[in-house]
Amino acid sequence: MATRPRTDFAARLLAWFDAHRRDLPWRRTRDPWAIWVSEVMLQQTRVAAVREPFARFLQRFPTPAAFAAASDDEVLAAWRGLGYYRRARLLRDGARAVVRDHQGAVPGELAALGTLPGVGDYTAGAIGSIGFGHAVPAVDGNVERVVARHRGLRQELESAAARRQVRAVAAGWLDPRRAGDFNQALMELGAVVCTPARPDCARCPVAADCAALAQGLTAALPVRARPRPAIAITARVALVLGRRGALAARIPAGEPNAGQVELPGPGMLVSVAAADLPAAVRARFGARLRCGAVVATVRHAITCHRITAHAHAATVQAGGSLAWFPLDEATPWTTPSRKLLRLALGGGAAGA
Ligand code: SF4
Repeated sequence: MATRPRTDFAARLLAWFDAHRRDLPWRRTRDPWAIWVSEVMLQQTRVAAVREPFARFLQRFPTPAAFAAASDDEVLAAWRGLGYYRRARLLRDGARAVVRDHQGAVPGELAALGTLPGVGDYTAGAIGSIGFGHAVPAVDGNVERVVARHRGLRQELESAAARRQVRAVAAGWLDPRRAGDFNQALMELGAVVCTPARPDCARCPVAADCAALAQGLTAALPVRARPRPAIAITARVALVLGRRGALAARIPAGEPNAGQVELPGPGMLVSVAAADLPAAVRARFGARLRCGAVVATVRHAITCHRITAHAHAATVQAGGSLAWFPLDEATPWTTPSRKLLRLALGGGAAGA
């Protein structure tokens, strides 16, 4: 494999980044709280979907102290449109730790950052380098892919040894004078040039010494463990509409998406036949409903589950533990419920 001095890699990458970087809202700040928020939002979420919630969130919660005081409903409302609500609760746990242990200021020391709830190696690296200028790598999936291809790593990236190696390579490439920019540049290269399916090597600033390109391995690398097979689920909910909104229930503590509001059914991860929906609602909520035709169908993915969710028009005979929830933006509807409501009501309701 051809080699060049590491600084040469950083210089080429940073020159490209300076000329081509995307203008993203979180790149206009060095505020470690804003960077922390953006990094959490960007986990498993596309850049385009984060822009608007990021601005809205920071307007509402400009400091860790402001977010630390947020109620569950405020957390869910602030996270609307992003999904994976567990991230938001962990971020609030982190904000509370900042208030409790660091006088409300995000700590600048890497060791302290790493102890905050929800802050792993990657997030600590991103906040530490971008917010505080520490010369530490921030290795996400984009960085893993660039390193694996550029260095021709052939072991599965999920192995501990491969992770260590990727981190060591990224640390070796890093320009300590511009650590935050370097980390963002490497992630940007992975996001827009060295993409998973079709790397655009002709536009790549570090193509000259890329092992995968030289060896014809760009399609074969990186090597990843086989993903878990997808599980198909046909979920169903009952849609009872009234003057006060829709009949629904809060998801209890301990279940995924706890605290959010869901249309009544056996749950999104449970397949159920249409004929069995009333019995499932009765078993779970003590409610007696009469369910009719499907009025809306949406598709939704949760981890390896590929869910087709149907909403059935229904009437209520006894509400059991169900309650009326308004069809507005403030109510923390789950994403599938919000999508189903929106579709059933013709597009504009439930703040979807
Ligand atoms: S040359 Fe191609 S495969 Fe190599 S790092 Fe650049 S985009 Fe990725």
